[in-house]
Amino acid sequence: MSKPSKSELATLLRGATGSCPACGSRGIFKTGMRLELKCPSCEISFDRSPGHWVGAVGINTIVSMLALLSTIVLSTLLLWPDLKVLPMLLPALIVGFVSPIAFYPISQTLWTAIDLIIRKDK
Ligand SMILES: [Zn+2]
Repeated sequence: MSKPSKSELATLLRGATGSCPACGSRGIFKTGMRLELKCPSCEISFDRSPGHWVGAVGINTIVSMLALLSTIVLSTLLLWPDLKVLPMLLPALIVGFVSPIAFYPISQTLWTAIDLIIRKDK
């Protein structure tokens, strides 16, 4: 496995910040959640192939599970040794419901960045 180049890291960083992974343009979301079909600046297609968004769902699931696991571990450490269900369950429920919704837009641009790097075309 080769070391990622600076342009690949820049592509990932642009995707991780919700910008167009190809050109860095902001304003690529129709609404807060839905991407435009193409970047208004560089016109790269965001719906890159059939099934493209499965990768975004996968990234969103991984990040959300890590956030949920971190919340459970943190609440366990904070409440140890007097563990109670409600003080542990409430933050876990909030993170479990909010994090997949909050991360969804970023998961789309991040997955598109990964796809750009893997397929090396535009
Ligand atoms: Zn662009």
